[in-house]
Amino acid sequence: MSESALFVVATPIGNLQDLSQRAIDVLQSVEVIAAEDTRHSARLLAHFNINTRLISVHEHNERQRIETVLAMLEEGKSIALISDAGTPLISDPGFVVVRAVREAGYKVVPVPGCAAFVTALSAAGLPSDRFSFEGFPPPKRNARLQCYSALADESRTLIFYESPHRVLESLKDMAESFGGERVAAVARELTKTFETIKSAPLAELVEWMAADHNQQKGEFVLLVQGRPKKDEGALDAKTEEVLDILLAELPVKQAAALASKITGVKKNLLYKLALERGE
Ligand code: SAM
Repeated sequence: MSESALFVVATPIGNLQDLSQRAIDVLQSVEVIAAEDTRHSARLLAHFNINTRLISVHEHNERQRIETVLAMLEEGKSIALISDAGTPLISDPGFVVVRAVREAGYKVVPVPGCAAFVTALSAAGLPSDRFSFEGFPPPKRNARLQCYSALADESRTLIFYESPHRVLESLKDMAESFGGERVAAVARELTKTFETIKSAPLAELVEWMAADHNQQKGEFVLLVQGRPKKDEGALDAKTEEVLDILLAELPVKQAAALASKITGVKKNLLYKLALERGE
């Protein structure tokens, strides 16, 4: 490796075969691997016969570690940053280190791989063109309900991480905030032996999970379909009434313009409807 760099390396979220060949090569060739939990990562590295020296970088020492990391880069040494599972910085430590390394002018090289939320989205069968990754919802019930209620009108697919201790309660709170008929998905133990991906209306998911304690074990991604956008072409009865009254007195263009001012509905939509009325 010519120029020193910080490599941000994604590791598997369960199935070890998901570690890419490029990730293995990088982890073997850097001088140091900065890991969230060195004991946890030592097992992964042993599996791939990687003997690179480990140092810890976790949420409690991240800021102190910046100096160490910058000093190594200054000496021309390259470092790999990994977390316990998946992509570092995604609900995991690393952000302050990456920012500091970039600000100091060193190269930061992503080595992509798994992230649980993308893995879940790719198989849940919910709209994936627009989505919002929300990380972990608040652990306390009131704050969680507030968080979900604030998102109830969001039209993008919502994605959350949730702990097994709270997953059933969290699903119940979702049903309360988004409505039991809103379609959602539970993605459990992705890439592992008991992988389960179930999509159904929230009320059904609550019943299903409550009835089977095994479904409350493991690691979870929860996804909620966004609120369907109102059909822009559909006008409410009051708007139509206003338009009809104005059409009785005014030419089409003027009636549509005035109806738009009164109701706030787009002028071109009302004009189209006014023309249809006149046909
Ligand atoms: N950095 C990771 C990533 O890229 O997804 C996420 C780390 S976050 C601390 C851990 C959470 O991710 C778990 O509590 C769970 O919500 C989700 N997660 C991780 N692995 C998973 C898996 N195999 N199946 C389902 N969810 C998983």
